Amino acid sequence: MLQSKIFIPTLKEAPSEAQIPSHILMLRAGLIRQLGAGIFSQLPLGYRSLKKVQHIIRQEMDAIGGQEFHLPALSPIDIWEQTGRVEAMGDVMFHIKNRDGLVLAPTHEEIMTYHARQHIKSYRDMPQIWYQIQTKFRNEPRPKSGVLRGRQFTMKDAYSLDNSKEGLDKSYDLHAIAYRNIYQRCGLKFFVVGASSGAMGGSASQEFMVESPYGEDTCVIDELSGYSANIEVAVSAVHPIGRIDNTDSIEEFATPGAKTIDELVTAFGLDINRCAKSVVYIADSKAYLILMRGNDQLNEAKFQNYVKSTQCRPAETEELFELTGAHAGSIGPIGLSSEITILADSLLEHANGLVSGANKDGFHIKNIDLERDCTISAFVDVRTVLEGEPCISGGNPLRIVNAIEVGHIFKLGTKYSEALNAVFLDEHGKEQPIIMGSYGIGLERIIACAIEQHHDEKGIAWPISIAPYTVHLIGLGLHKSQEAVKVCNEIHDALEKIGIDVLFDDRDVSPGIKFNDADLIGLPFQLIVGEKGLQQGQLELKIRKTHERLSIAISLDDTLVLTVVNAIQSHMNIMVQ
Ligand code: ATP
Ligand code: MG
Repeated sequence: MLQSKIFIPTLKEAPSEAQIPSHILMLRAGLIRQLGAGIFSQLPLGYRSLKKVQHIIRQEMDAIGGQEFHLPALSPIDIWEQTGRVEAMGDVMFHIKNRDGLVLAPTHEEIMTYHARQHIKSYRDMPQIWYQIQTKFRNEPRPKSGVLRGRQFTMKDAYSLDNSKEGLDKSYDLHAIAYRNIYQRCGLKFFVVGASSGAMGGSASQEFMVESPYGEDTCVIDELSGYSANIEVAVSAVHPIGRIDNTDSIEEFATPGAKTIDELVTAFGLDINRCAKSVVYIADSKAYLILMRGNDQLNEAKFQNYVKSTQCRPAETEELFELTGAHAGSIGPIGLSSEITILADSLLEHANGLVSGANKDGFHIKNIDLERDCTISAFVDVRTVLEGEPCISGGNPLRIVNAIEVGHIFKLGTKYSEALNAVFLDEHGKEQPIIMGSYGIGLERIIACAIEQHHDEKGIAWPISIAPYTVHLIGLGLHKSQEAVKVCNEIHDALEKIGIDVLFDDRDVSPGIKFNDADLIGLPFQLIVGEKGLQQGQLELKIRKTHERLSIAISLDDTLVLTVVNAIQSHMNIMVQ
């Protein structure tokens, strides 16, 4: 492709709306343009990358037996009403104003289940893996970070239909392998976090994550052991505080002005681990007092998961006073009304010698023995893991990182098939709901994450697999040299012929502009061809990622093109390995 014939509107400066490297570089390199909040147009260069990602995904999905569909984005609302998702999605779902009963699909579980209901009738009709690469619409409240969170984006969504739990396990495992291959082939360094949700009847889900300071998820990882988990479920090998030699009875003492654990520790010289902190939460109208070590933070997701409630919130100030007789900072497990369920973090199991609020402003109680003095309903892991704590596997210090979710695989079970009555007859002629899985990948997110991981101060440094073109052929002084034009054209055609795509900078602009644009656009190889190099018998091949400059010795005869093509091919092989 001639660069003079393709629309690549590069920008010298970062546009003010962009804050993060991938967004800035996608705009500057002329890959995308913003049309509205969370709405982006793919320009020719960006669309080439998107199509390469699509191709990799198709290959990997086809390899696990996936069958490609293309479903409409418009969809009848009643299907979504039957599964309760109009309400669950709330404002995220776009509703069509001038045509009653239609919505823009934010995902396609309902639609695939609808088609399965029509035609999957017997256990013999399964397994099936149905997928599509299609546009999704979500009215994200805060679209930011460019294509990482769009209101319209491309998703590969797949759905598995099985007649047994074992079948679902197999379909799920196939997707887990396909997803690993996809991210690897797209040049992404990723990790997987898993969550097993008991509430869904043993179903499981895994998220594929890319570490990035701009990620909206927080994860805990240990590269050495391979442990990784979302902070919402992460655990560490911190030991319970256990018992100390203290058989004294509980005793109230005045702690005027000491409202926080730190103030209490400083004023009375206490061990922070034995200052039990209490927080009060309301879950489904029931009050819980949660006791933790003084320096720990409640992990709301863990608590919510334990109480199996979707409606959890901290108690308000007045509520707290009404429930306990004291304000925050003076609350504790002793002498509480039996209406309040007391939970304690697992690190406090069997603990004694604790100090906690007396449920009386300005007073605390010491020598608390949880086994002797309180009725703890359960010891549960409800704390948030902290940076540097030992990993449960091997004891290495854990890292806490922000991460971007690039994909999600999920054992749905029968949630949608039951709601939409998608049933089949099993071997015994008995009606059963189809057992389903759902699997999603955001394509623009893959590209943005790849740029986050592969760029430098000059621009993008694409992985070969998803680069808009593989080689940037930079012709210098072409208006003065017929020879250079001829060699460039020959090299271009020879590379294209063997399937290596080339962007040939044939523009009549200065070498400086060409080099800057080439570094910004970031194609993996830059081949520099000019009269001078040809005369000296040396062409320069620059590896964008490493800035390495290699000299290719050439002779001005029939062997030239072959020499250059071989040099590029052998470096491609080295880089792909
Ligand atoms: P998030 O928590 O980031 O909103 P999600 O849990 O809503 O993601 P899924 O419904 O599991 O995402 O969608 C599957 C994949 O689609 C995600 O892993 C992500 O790669 C991509 N995706 C989701 N929402 C967006 C969006 N607004 N813009 C771009 N890609 C998205
Ligand atoms: Mg979302």
